[in-house]
Amino acid sequence: MKKTDILITDAFTESILKQYEKKYNIVYSPRITPEELIEVVCNYDILIISTRLPVQKELLAKASRLKLIVRMGAGVDQIDLGYCAKKNIVVCNTPGSNVSPVVEYVFGELLRLMRDFESMDRSVMNGEFRKGIKPGGELFSKSIGIIGAGRIGSRIAGTAKQFGMTVFANDPYLTEKQKKKIAVDRWLSRPELLKRSDIVTLHVPLTRRTAHLADMKFFSGMKNGSILINASRGRVLKLDDAVKFAKQGIIKKFIIDVFENEPCRPEIPDNVRQYFFFSPHAGAYTEESFLNRSIEALEEVDEFLSGRKPHGFIDPKKGY
Ligand code: NAD
Repeated sequence: MKKTDILITDAFTESILKQYEKKYNIVYSPRITPEELIEVVCNYDILIISTRLPVQKELLAKASRLKLIVRMGAGVDQIDLGYCAKKNIVVCNTPGSNVSPVVEYVFGELLRLMRDFESMDRSVMNGEFRKGIKPGGELFSKSIGIIGAGRIGSRIAGTAKQFGMTVFANDPYLTEKQKKKIAVDRWLSRPELLKRSDIVTLHVPLTRRTAHLADMKFFSGMKNGSILINASRGRVLKLDDAVKFAKQGIIKKFIIDVFENEPCRPEIPDNVRQYFFFSPHAGAYTEESFLNRSIEALEEVDEFLSGRKPHGFIDPKKGY
């Protein structure tokens, strides 16, 4: 029987590939360009991708054999889910592998901002030993408002409780039963959450409803001196509005991991640069996450080829 042809287009843990070589024909092309992918996609039954490449009509129209797309990671906003459904292409993701690294990224960034570890290090090596560094802040007893309390948001809630924080959340799509399992002190409307939180963190998917959710009106509703984190999707936050708003000084710090058009170099005027703390969509960029997403991706392939629904099956109706 002919083996299934699989193309992997993004970083993958190669030791996992070896375990599957006998079972499937796997081509690993982590640097393939969108144009090259369009040329070769007709040769594959399954695509394993990450965020790098768009999977839109132009590509899908050429994908005559394609039956399954496995998105390593969580967001599926770069995939035309409606068109996949029309062509009977199943789409699934591996969101579990991203939860811990994103939660650790959020608290890592917060602690770094609160305590300024870099200047502590410098003060020792400059021979100043504490002179010249300002006392930091604590997370303990601060309030955090979580918008989107799914896999990542709910784990943020549990970790925040461990730090002794007050946890607010907003997620209109969770049932009362689901909400009861999450360590949230109060479920609030979005305006109320913004008004009461020292730190606001976004963990929603990118959909028509969440595109530019964090805009001028949103920022204006935030508490004086608060911190805003976006490690969800770039288009959820309107960066131009954030730049305009930063000058007003209400939001003390913007921690931003994701951008509307990646890769990019945002233009931030010098007079507000101090308010922005960027990372290059690296919230889930850990060795462990790469290993786990690689294992999960090929497990999903096994699941699908055994005639079962992949665990991370994406309902096309929930797309962007
Ligand atoms: P999830 O689907 O488990 O949770 C998302 C939650 O958002 C759901 O509970 C949903 O009900 C809620 N939600 C949807 N629309 C909302 C709205 N308008 N207001 C409030 N809540 C809303 O997703 P997840 O795995 O927790 O991932 C969350 C986000 O993080 C996604 O955008 C994903 O793409 C992103 N992500 C980023 C990185 C990174 O590297 N920075 C890594 C992984 C995931």
